[in-house]
Amino acid sequence: MTQKFDVVVIGAGPGGYVAAIKAAQLGLKTACIEQYRDKEGKIALGGTCLNVGCIPSKALLDSSYKYHEAKEGFKVHGIEASGVTIDVGAMVGRKNTIVKNLTGGVSTLFKANGVTLLEGHGKLLANKQVEVTGADGNSEIVEAAHVILASGSRPIDIPPAPVDQKVIVDSTGALDFQAVPKRLGVIGAGVIGLELGSVWARLGAEVTVLEALDKFLPAADEQIAKEAFKVLTKQGLKIRLGARVTGSEVQGEQVTVNFTDANGEQKETFDKLIVAVGRRPVTTDLLAPNSGVDLDERGYIFVNDHCETSVPGVYAIGDVVRGLMLAHKASEEGVVVAERIAGHKAQMNYDLIPAVIYTHPEVAWVGKTEQALKAEGVEINVGTFPFAASGRAMAANDTTGLVKVIADAKTDRVLGVHVIGPSAAELVQQGAIAMEFGTSAEDLGMMVFSHPTLSEALHEAALAVNGQAIHVANRKKR
Ligand code: FAD
Ligand code: AMP
Repeated sequence: MTQKFDVVVIGAGPGGYVAAIKAAQLGLKTACIEQYRDKEGKIALGGTCLNVGCIPSKALLDSSYKYHEAKEGFKVHGIEASGVTIDVGAMVGRKNTIVKNLTGGVSTLFKANGVTLLEGHGKLLANKQVEVTGADGNSEIVEAAHVILASGSRPIDIPPAPVDQKVIVDSTGALDFQAVPKRLGVIGAGVIGLELGSVWARLGAEVTVLEALDKFLPAADEQIAKEAFKVLTKQGLKIRLGARVTGSEVQGEQVTVNFTDANGEQKETFDKLIVAVGRRPVTTDLLAPNSGVDLDERGYIFVNDHCETSVPGVYAIGDVVRGLMLAHKASEEGVVVAERIAGHKAQMNYDLIPAVIYTHPEVAWVGKTEQALKAEGVEINVGTFPFAASGRAMAANDTTGLVKVIADAKTDRVLGVHVIGPSAAELVQQGAIAMEFGTSAEDLGMMVFSHPTLSEALHEAALAVNGQAIHVANRKKR
């Protein structure tokens, strides 16, 4: 007999699994379909984020930073650490354990909330029927009152550098190197390229990042991007802007990469090459020709502001639809869609999605950049505060970077918070909370911040917006 559900979700990434749990919590009979298998051949929930994205990359970033600190950062504290070595196998093994714990945790949450897991490939047919095909090739059809498509994204391949997962790898392969490559090439200076490049640079690889654009981190505030370029270059990342990769040749264990830059044709040889040129939506065999769901011109599932597709009752969320490819964006869309299905009037605030690059120092921001606001003709006041003037940052010997708060010159409402520095992701979240409540720079300035904390840098930058900073000379007089 055909199984019937109130909600069927295709994909158990941070979009899909969160949507499924929320729908079940709201009393809806919910199933979630997932096809991804881990190295042991078992179905693993959590999608890109938990298996080969956010979590494993952060595990390696944290391990490699500790190694780097033990080697280079202890001396200043009077700590002598000699003979510090890295066991890459153990580091990658620790990462794998964390992934296993978390993906297993999602299975537990499904059971606890009564979400039915259907193992296999999901395909939307007409009339909100979904075909689930197992590994053995057998199919069953389930029926749903509502379907949520959350099939996510996968790395973009470029013909000049075909991934073999041996010498030329994508982000997934770069999480599983068994040794530190001597010379590492990275194509793409986006978030993923910079994070993975940093991991292996900290462990001793000579890293060259080839970026086709002339501008570094175009989505970031220009002042912050400039600082990030300076800092990462000082750390040893050779970031070559305006360098477009045109071809590559693998010879044994090495790859020679051809690229063009302002000086013409160039080539460089690496022991490993990471292709990190972006991600594209996964829609392969997801929609039957008569499903009625439309894609947009870039291949994403077309949705409106409420994640509704062209078929009533069918929704799409996360990386497979327009917007930032971020786990928290996917999850929040999942919650909002589940709530709307349950009859609530939920809505997502797309203007306040924080973005983070987990290098050290971290780079993070929420809201609008100075250049975007100026282009819109908005009059603004800007306050900045350097971590070099923060007692807490000094105590931690972590003083690189700054906090920048941008406020509307007329209303004083905070329009953007941009940080490069220690714990930037956490500081920006404070800005996001404040902005969600419509804070003014003055409001933030009047709040009591614990001393000594890194958060005081946010406080001081907010005060600096109106020329009232205490611990740094004000550019603007009161
Ligand atoms: P996904 O996580 O891609 O999940 C989709 C799931 O659907 C997959 O499990 C897939 O197997 C399954 N699926 C697809 N089609 C079908 C089908 N037909 N039937 C059954 N199952 C199907 N984001 C952040 O916010 N912070 C970070 O620090 C961060 N770091 C990242 C680091 C790396 C290296 C990478 C690659 C990504 C990172 N991201 C980060 C991005 C983040 O992983 C994605 O934005 C997020 O996973 C998107 O969630 P999703 O649910 O839309 O899709
Ligand atoms: P993101 O989309 O943020 O992950 O960043 C990917 C980056 O890769 C972008 O900045 C692109 O400009 C860059 N890129 C794409 N194709 C190439 C190429 N052939 N050579 C060098 N950089 C590239």
